[in-house]
Amino acid sequence: MVTVKQVVKGEENIDRKKFLDELKRKNEKYGFMRSIEPESNEKDGDLENLPFIVKDAICKEDRITSAGSSIIENYRPVFSSTVVERLEDEGGEYIGKSNQDEFGFGTFCTNCAFETPKNPHDPERVVGGSSGGAGACIAAIDQPLISIGESTGGSVTNPAAYNGVVGITPTYGRVSRHGLINYANSLDKIGVMAEKVYGAAKGLEIIAGEDENDHTTVEGAVPAFSENLDKKESLKIAVPKQYLELEGLEEGVRQNFERSVEIMEEQGFETEEVDIPLLDADYSVPAYYIVAVSEASTNLAKYSGIRYGLEKDPEQFEDFNSYFSEIRSEGFGEEAKRRALLGTYTRQAGYRDQYYIKAAKVRQKLINQLKEVFEQYDVIMAPSMPNIAPKIEEAESMSPEKVYAMDACTVGPNFAGVPMVSVPNGKSEGMPTGLHIIADHFEEQKILDTALTYQEVSDHE
Ligand code: GLN
Repeated sequence: MVTVKQVVKGEENIDRKKFLDELKRKNEKYGFMRSIEPESNEKDGDLENLPFIVKDAICKEDRITSAGSSIIENYRPVFSSTVVERLEDEGGEYIGKSNQDEFGFGTFCTNCAFETPKNPHDPERVVGGSSGGAGACIAAIDQPLISIGESTGGSVTNPAAYNGVVGITPTYGRVSRHGLINYANSLDKIGVMAEKVYGAAKGLEIIAGEDENDHTTVEGAVPAFSENLDKKESLKIAVPKQYLELEGLEEGVRQNFERSVEIMEEQGFETEEVDIPLLDADYSVPAYYIVAVSEASTNLAKYSGIRYGLEKDPEQFEDFNSYFSEIRSEGFGEEAKRRALLGTYTRQAGYRDQYYIKAAKVRQKLINQLKEVFEQYDVIMAPSMPNIAPKIEEAESMSPEKVYAMDACTVGPNFAGVPMVSVPNGKSEGMPTGLHIIADHFEEQKILDTALTYQEVSDHE
């Protein structure tokens, strides 16, 4: 198989027709694309015509950008996001949008208004979410490609694990969110998915860096992640006991994870179990969801059928309230409605201190606890997801609480805004599992190097 590494190094030519033929054929089978509207690119650069696919919430000028929602199903932005511009400036070729849960609200891509993608490893199973299509396209396509996802609470790690690919979620503020249809502004992070660590490192290095259109981006030069990529000689690895004791951690996932710890020990690395109390799902899951739904509900307010969203003849309605209620009833899916309601409640005067402010304090405490660990250890290792991708039928019948509980391994680090990478970690019941490698803020190089080390010593496909 041709690796992204060969391509970005210019050792292979990309056959555009062959690529598009395979994409269309596989997409018919698995449904991971929202739109295929490729654009050729004459620019020279590091990517040398490498195809890239972006999550449906990331704007590309004049191309369908619908964030998985029928309320903006025909939206074609008038500008491109910073990440798309940067990839194009380096010679990357835009191919289209990948399917996702509506506005990022979900864990299995079963909340997508258009299509529920099927897992290329087993079409009866989910691709994960919310950047599910972004993970599945990497798994399905046997040609060089990178795909851009976005994580609020785990949406890059989750589909990377379920589809057996590499996914990096950078530090909050490392990559510009300009041109991203926001889920929760203080949590959203655009990341990269690829077949191998090198592709993720290369993609990240191109999209990262300060952007005058997003004042939460950090100043300073972006490290040359892909060039610096190097195997680790020594490492101190922390394994949080909260993940080992997690209720719902499937046996096959546990075995693969324990084996990965052994593999690292065989390399001479030190590993130790640590206690990080706020990673306990009883704290991290509710605290994350309170902040996420609070911010999401403010972001959903703009879809009222006036500037954005479906439109209807206003003359048919008595007043503005009945007009936009109708637009939202029709345009939003069930989960978006649930989050608008929950989020309006958690930040309402009278409840705000009890919920939103309290959850924000938990976030700061969690950051402090992680910082203490990173004073002594280089990285944290954990299972990426507690389970393998469930069957679509099973996922669709889960209660919202059960779905939220599936995020137990991912919401903690996402809430704290630290960088993380998920790498393939062998199979369980024939389905991929992932190893999660997490480090302190802005230590992307460290997790990429650790992931490369593991990728090379573990031999997992
Ligand atoms: N499953 C989580 C949620 O629904 C995370 C999704 C995401 O990162 N977009 O909030």
